[in-house]
Amino acid sequence: MDGLNHEITEYMSLFAEEEEIISKAEDILESAKQQQNILAPHFDKLLRSYKKLFGQTKRIVKMADNLQRDLNTATDKLSVLCKIDQLTGIANRRCFEDTYNVQWKRSVRNRTQLALIVIDIDYFKQYNDTYGHSKGDICLQKVAQAIQQTLKRPDDFLARYGGEEFVVVLPTTDENGALLIAESIRDSIEALSIPHRMSKVSNHLTISMGVCVMTASLVDYKDVHFQRADEALYQAKNEGRNRVIMWKDASE
Ligand code: GH3
Ligand code: MG
Ligand code: MG
Repeated sequence: MDGLNHEITEYMSLFAEEEEIISKAEDILESAKQQQNILAPHFDKLLRSYKKLFGQTKRIVKMADNLQRDLNTATDKLSVLCKIDQLTGIANRRCFEDTYNVQWKRSVRNRTQLALIVIDIDYFKQYNDTYGHSKGDICLQKVAQAIQQTLKRPDDFLARYGGEEFVVVLPTTDENGALLIAESIRDSIEALSIPHRMSKVSNHLTISMGVCVMTASLVDYKDVHFQRADEALYQAKNEGRNRVIMWKDASE
């Protein structure tokens, strides 16, 4: 049974008892009229009132039904909006957390590697100070678009983590693959050629990236994964920015 038919059947069965009462009452009224029962006119009046009230009840139920449907639609739209970063139109941090958790579990199940790239724009405070905050906003939009366009696989995922930081999740990707993607992201930002005269590393806007690839396990290393990518990003900043650094275990 399709959704609409199911709804109609449910709607009809909702009032089955009342419909039956009306039908029986009409029969009784009819035979009372035929027998010229003196109570027939009173009964007739009563039945009309009942039918009127019943009609009103049905309209109220229908209205409540429509309101519920509108509410469901609004809730659906809201939950989509809650996952989108308003400035750049890409996924937001909350959506990243959800997606990452799903990919982590998938990675545990399939025993595959999961790569994480943390991206940060270089000298972005100076960019805002030099060109103004609204130019800074446009810049964030361009950077988001450029990164998005470098991701080709359907499960590759980009989110704005906050401020001028982005995060990329690459399922089933090893270190070599992740490095290739990170370098192509870096190239795509250089190719935008956004002038940045106060940057200390280039005439144009650049980004730094930290990469960490992990084979997910049931042990909850999720936070460690992000921390490691972030550590690698910190190292990329320290080593001169506009570069990609892969996290390595210092004890190895
Ligand atoms: P670093 O190379 O070390 O990353 O330096 P940075 O200047 O990029 O880093 P810092 O954390 O000092 O500054 C980040 C700047 O990002 C500060 C803030 O003004 C800017 N920013 C954060 N969110 C937004 C935003 O939504 N729009 C704009 N225009 N700027 C933002
Ligand atoms: Mg930052
Ligand atoms: Mg920065």
